[in-house]
Amino acid sequence: MKTRITEMLGIEHPIVQGGMQWVGLAEMASAVSNAGGLGIVTGLTQPTPEDLLKEIKRCREMTDKPFAVNLTILPTIKPVPYEEYAQAIIDSGVKIVETAGRNPQPFLPAFKEAGIKVIHKCTSIRHSLKAESIGCDAVSVDGFECAGHPGEDDVTNLILLPIAARRLKIPFIASGGFGDGHGLAAALAMGADGINMGTRFMVTKEAPIHNNVKQRMVDASELDTALIYRSLNNTARVFKNSIANQVQEIESKPGETRFEDIQSLVQGVKGRELLEDGDLDKGIWSAGMIVGLIDDIPSCEELIARIVNDAEEIIKNRLKNIVSA
Ligand code: NAD
Repeated sequence: MKTRITEMLGIEHPIVQGGMQWVGLAEMASAVSNAGGLGIVTGLTQPTPEDLLKEIKRCREMTDKPFAVNLTILPTIKPVPYEEYAQAIIDSGVKIVETAGRNPQPFLPAFKEAGIKVIHKCTSIRHSLKAESIGCDAVSVDGFECAGHPGEDDVTNLILLPIAARRLKIPFIASGGFGDGHGLAAALAMGADGINMGTRFMVTKEAPIHNNVKQRMVDASELDTALIYRSLNNTARVFKNSIANQVQEIESKPGETRFEDIQSLVQGVKGRELLEDGDLDKGIWSAGMIVGLIDDIPSCEELIARIVNDAEEIIKNRLKNIVSA
C-alpha cells in the first residue's frame, strides 16, 4: 500500500504504533518498525532526557528502519523538562516526532531546523487545522474510541475522519478504534493515509508488558473501558478494572473532585508496575474500545501482515464486487 504517509515516513505499510506511556520501549518500537510499520519510542517513559537518548540508541541497534519518538505534553504529577526532552530527540538524530497533548508550536522551529517531520496528535478538527497552520507535517486524528486522552468533545472517528479529509491538506492518520483489516480499509475509505494503533500493539508477543495484561485484554469486550478524569477536564480512557471503578465513584460524588482525591490511585508509577508484574488491580492502564476486537497475541509481523492482507482483500474483492455487481 502506498499513501502520503508511507511516502513521507519511508515505511512499507501505513500503520503507526501509538506513543504509549510505559509500553513504547525500544523492544516495542523496533518490532513494529522491523515489521514495516512505524514504531514509536515514548519520550516520557524514560525518567530523564539522557535515558531517552540511551533508549533511542538501543532502538537503533534493534532496527535499521525508521522509527519516531513521542513527546506528550499533558498535566503530570511531577514537572517535566519538556525543552530538554525535545533537545534529546534532536540530538539523537531521529527524524520523526509525534507530539501530543498541547500545541507543539514552541518546539517546531528547532524540530524543523533539525529536519524532523512532526506528526501532531489531535482529538478535534480545530486542533488538526491549527496543527496544519503552524507547519506540522501530518496529524494523527484521535477519535473518542481511543485509549488514553480522547479530549472532551466525544466525537467518534466515523465523523472526525471524513471532516478531516474535507478540510485538511496535510496527510492524516486515523487513530482510535483501529486494530484489524476492516479498520484499515475503512480508514483509507474515509480519506486517511494510514492508521495508528496503541492498544492492539500492546497485545503482541513483543510488547514489553506482563502476559496477564495481554490475556485480560484478549478476554475483554468492547464494554471493558472506562472514562476517568472527566471532572478534571483531562479525560482518559483506561481499562475498566477495580481502580478505574473507584476513581469513577470518587468523581461522581457531589461537589468538585480535586486531583489529590484520586492521585494515589492513578499515579503513573503504579500503572508501570502493573504492566511489569501483571497485578491487574494495582493501578490504571490505558486501553481503547478496540479491546473488544482483540482475540489473540500475535507477533507484530504477523499482526501487520494480517491487517494489510485483510484490508487488501476487502478492497479488491468485497468492495469491488459490490460496485461491479
Ligand atoms: P502521572 O503519573 O504524572 O499522572 C497520572 C495521570 O494523572 C496522568 O494521566 C496525568 O495526565 C493525570 N494528572 C496528573 N496531574 C494532574 C492534574 N493536576 N489534573 C488532572 N490530571 C492530572 O503521569 P504518567 O502516567 O507518568 O504519564 C506521563 C504523561 O503521559 C502524562 O502527561 C500522561 O497524561 C501522559 N499519558 C498519555 C497517554 C496517552 O493517551 N497519550 C497515556 C498515558 C499517559
